[in-house]
Amino acid sequence: MSTATQSTFPPGEIPTLADLGFDEPEADLPDAGMAAARDRLDAFCDDGIYRYDSDRDYPTRESTSRLSADLTHGTIGVRTVYWASEKAKAEATDDQQEEIKEFQSQLAWRAFYTHVLWFNPEVVDENYKEYENPIQWEDNPENLQAWKDGETGYPIVDAGMRQLRAEGYMHNRVRMIVASFLTKDLLIDWREGYHWFREKLVDHNTANNNGGWQWAASTGTDSQPYFRIFNPMTQGERYDPDAEYIAKYVPELEGVDPEIIHGWHEASPTQRHNAAPDYPTPVVDHSERREQALAMFEAARGD
Ligand SMILES: Cc1cc2nc3c(=O)[nH]c(=O)nc-3n(C[C@H](O)[C@H](O)[C@H](O)COP(=O)(O)OP(=O)(O)OC[C@H]3O[C@@H](n4cnc5c(N)ncnc54)[C@H](O)[C@@H]3O)c2cc1C
Repeated sequence: MSTATQSTFPPGEIPTLADLGFDEPEADLPDAGMAAARDRLDAFCDDGIYRYDSDRDYPTRESTSRLSADLTHGTIGVRTVYWASEKAKAEATDDQQEEIKEFQSQLAWRAFYTHVLWFNPEVVDENYKEYENPIQWEDNPENLQAWKDGETGYPIVDAGMRQLRAEGYMHNRVRMIVASFLTKDLLIDWREGYHWFREKLVDHNTANNNGGWQWAASTGTDSQPYFRIFNPMTQGERYDPDAEYIAKYVPELEGVDPEIIHGWHEASPTQRHNAAPDYPTPVVDHSERREQALAMFEAARGD
């Protein structure tokens, strides 16, 4: 902040973004601050926490805490969240206790990635896992842009990328899907995705963002094995069967039969044109790219 701006705003007065020379954010953001964070925690402990494990992978079920931005920026402490979850656990049935334990294990993942970064700061730019040879990522600015814009022709991927722009947030399951798509379908370096998330996520924190990307790219500590490649159509069908999440963020597909949405990659040009003329055809063929991804990792492993 410049000296001039400091002198205009005495202690106690908070300058607006415009006062500081910034534009209003593009994204529609939730309320910020300690009171809003506490309200989110209370709401979560009344409902979502008791069905967390069963529902957390389904983006329309709203069973997660939505506390990530608060934890990142310090408007709530992780101990407060943990002890609130313990209190809920003390009042829960045996089955519900299992649901809550899964939530607590996500808090542990957060602590784990913080430790990874603390002891290995080089992971910000480098693969954690060493391969025999450099991974030969593809340099393809057009495909990277299609991914950023949510224009890949893979509906669940596009919905996630558009949620990110619209809200500065993306559901965890969908983060995993779009990260797998960037690295294993587009074969683009995870660092490109990490940087885009860093720019767009309100909850961005280096440890979690880096840990999430390196997990998806099979370069991290305890990551997805290189040969386990998400199929973006099956993922969409499994976790958004009625395509509600997709239709919310991809208006071109609103009202389209979910079967057509989840089979978009196999639909004929005429079917696509009749169902959603403005929605793109897939930028790559998943089956072909899967084989290329396997070959890319096998070459890096020196197999
Ligand atoms: C590619 C990728 C990038 C990610 N980038 C970030 C990031 O920049 N910032 C961030 O906070 N999370 C990140 N995550 C983890 C996770 O997606 C978010 O924490 C979660 O979606 C936030 O929603 P929530 O608060 O409702 O989470 P909940 O499910 O309610 O989880 C509670 C808290 O636990 C922590 N947490 C949950 N999942 C994870 C996880 N997989 N790894 C580490 N901590 C976790 C978060 O602090 C979260 O707020 C990333 C995941 C992936 C796959």
